[in-house]
Amino acid sequence: MPAHDVLIIGAGLAGQRAALAAAREGASVAIMSKVHPVRSHSVAAAGGINAAIAYDTVKGSDFLGDQDAIEVMCSEAPGEVMHLEHIGVTFHRNEKGEMDLRAFGGASMKRTAYVADITGQALLHVLYEQLMKHHETVERYEEWFTTSLLQDEQGRCAGVIARDVRSGRMEAFTAKNVILACGGAGQAYKPTTNGLIVTGDGIAMAYRAGAPLMDMEMVQYHPTCLVETGILITEGARGEGAHLLNSGGERFMEKAAPNKMELASRDVVSRAEQIEINEGRGVGPGGRGIYLDVTVVPRKRTLEALREIVNLGKDFAGVDITREPITIRPGQHYIMGGVKTDIDGRTPIEGLYAAGEVACVSVHGGNRLGANSLLDTLIFGRRSGEHAAARAASMAMPEIDTHAQLRRDSDAIDAIINRPRDGRRVSEIKDELGEMMNEYAAVFRDEQGLQSARETIARLKEEAGKAWIDDRGTVFNQDVLGAIELGYMIDCAEATVVGAIERKESRGAQFRTDYPERNDEEWLKHIDITLDGDGPHVSYSPVAITQWQPEERKY
Ligand SMILES: Cc1cc2nc3c(=O)[nH]c(=O)nc-3n(C[C@H](O)[C@H](O)[C@H](O)COP(=O)(O)OP(=O)(O)OC[C@H]3O[C@@H](n4cnc5c(N)ncnc54)[C@H](O)[C@@H]3O)c2cc1C
Repeated sequence: MPAHDVLIIGAGLAGQRAALAAAREGASVAIMSKVHPVRSHSVAAAGGINAAIAYDTVKGSDFLGDQDAIEVMCSEAPGEVMHLEHIGVTFHRNEKGEMDLRAFGGASMKRTAYVADITGQALLHVLYEQLMKHHETVERYEEWFTTSLLQDEQGRCAGVIARDVRSGRMEAFTAKNVILACGGAGQAYKPTTNGLIVTGDGIAMAYRAGAPLMDMEMVQYHPTCLVETGILITEGARGEGAHLLNSGGERFMEKAAPNKMELASRDVVSRAEQIEINEGRGVGPGGRGIYLDVTVVPRKRTLEALREIVNLGKDFAGVDITREPITIRPGQHYIMGGVKTDIDGRTPIEGLYAAGEVACVSVHGGNRLGANSLLDTLIFGRRSGEHAAARAASMAMPEIDTHAQLRRDSDAIDAIINRPRDGRRVSEIKDELGEMMNEYAAVFRDEQGLQSARETIARLKEEAGKAWIDDRGTVFNQDVLGAIELGYMIDCAEATVVGAIERKESRGAQFRTDYPERNDEEWLKHIDITLDGDGPHVSYSPVAITQWQPEERKY
């Protein structure tokens, strides 16, 4: 049975950064990913990485972010960005040859380093090259799917159970520490900017093991997604100066954010767009969109700094964005919530860490600033890796009998494969879940909609337990993985809806039309959700405030 000091589940930016940090500390490290590492969703990140200002991040979070964690992230940011440059990331340079910075939403000055609009790809490939250098100390389990966490009798995390996607073989892995770096849960929504692999696996596995989830009600809608597909047009476009226009050709952000205009924080811009659409000033089919006008940016600059979205516009909307406006709307993009951790990535379960989008430190609180996620993945990926390696140095390898759990997960997979073909299909349930979340747990929410979402989720949970699949084989059986992922997404959606019902105020990405004001007196606190028996249990934890008392948020 494989055994490692530090076993990292997920090989996006958070996972790879954690692996490199733990390897540098001398630990024996393994990194596992359900897809090849450079296909991890971090590869899609476009606009850039912030060396963020702490106050901007606190304000962006609508004062729900934990200020101690934000200060750590922001004070370590410049060093991390320089480190990336030193290991080979070809950040864009200005005419003087210095690292160029672009404007991003909610930032008081230009703080976003970028590689055209393929920043995630550039970072991920450089980190993977670095991992190659450490091939003697870092074992890679590529195309292995983790099904559950192993725990000893005291509840400590002691490894994972996983399935080799290529062969269908099940295996137990022991580890002194497991770091979850499994990304977000965007696929619980439809449409979403997130790829098909972003299914909340890490969040659900930790939740099922007893770890609390935090801020799950905070789901980010990005202001500029293509209307039909939900494909993202990077905030970099507005950073370069693009305008948002309604059907009357008005720059309506003048009303919502007279100072920052299109570069207000994402929750503010998405809400302003949705109001235009709801009040009949939308554009495109059914008036469901808003114009993003990139033609105001010099064409040469667009072709150089936004070349990917020039291609996306042509391929997915038939629009040359250098010559005409493109129709966009708010779309699900990111979850601020996740597995509750401290600033070293530790969860309350001993031996279990989490970093990146799977985690909630909480540096994003009610709303994440654009380009702050890449920063979060790297800072807290590194810190988790370092901390886990240090912990490993002072302990023995856990001795744990893995047979029962290995058998349980193998039997569960066999049961899925052998389900009679008379229930609903996995894909149908997934579509219903996503569309329902996009209706009731979106930019605007209310009690009635959220309660109906909760009822639907309860029914879908039942149906998912019987959903059937086509593929009965062992080699690359993506069908069976899809059925497992559906269960993970339903857990995440349930936690989101329960949190959104609980929070009876409007803050950050949570706008309750029945409670339209922010209410610091009662709700300046995190909502934590733990699994109690079969269902979610709600509790609260305080927001860490160091320097900045909550104040009215204006852009
Ligand atoms: C289109 C788009 C553009 C974006 N642009 C930006 C940007 O410009 N700047 C910014 O800051 N943020 C951006 N973001 C957000 C940012 O890209 C993500 O939040 C971040 O990359 C997440 O990184 P991660 O390492 O946490 O997870 P991911 O990169 O999603 O990696 C998750 C890893 O976990 C593995 N995994 C998951 N489940 C399992 C399992 N069961 N078993 C084994 N392995 C598993 C996956 O294979 C993968 O390796 C963007 C997001 C999108 C969707």
